[in-house]
Amino acid sequence: MRCPKCSSEELKVLETRADKVASTRRRRECLQCNHRFSTIEEVLREDLAVVKRDGRRESFDRTKLAMGLRRAISKRPIDAEQINALLSDTLRRIENEFDNEVPSRAIADAIMQRLRKVDAIAWLRYASFYQDFHGLSRFAEEVINLGVGDTGGEDGD
Ligand SMILES: [Zn+2]
Repeated sequence: MRCPKCSSEELKVLETRADKVASTRRRRECLQCNHRFSTIEEVLREDLAVVKRDGRRESFDRTKLAMGLRRAISKRPIDAEQINALLSDTLRRIENEFDNEVPSRAIADAIMQRLRKVDAIAWLRYASFYQDFHGLSRFAEEVINLGVGDTGGEDGD
């Protein structure tokens, strides 16, 4: 945790408030520049199940999602902060929209919707991971090959 103004890590918590069951808001002050700001801690939902296209269910795994994204943005000019924001934003929307189960397709769609605005190549790569993009995925591969010539052969998995 750093001060958003001066990046100092010397912070003081002024106030802690539990808003709802699942989130805690803290008022903080930077000891360097006296800037005051708030942070919200959220409990991550671990009861959310992902329903795959073949009907199988698996528990929602944020790490897995982040890995897919990282693969898509490999060597693209996108910083970690943008990706974290994209992930948090997507997760918030999914958790609001779905109760216990979320189709894997809905997650991919939500990610792609945002990724497209960030980077077209990363978006096409992500889209090509999903086999239901029949027509698009071939096209995507070709565009990817045109766009980034040096990514072949490094995919370990
Ligand atoms: Zn500061």
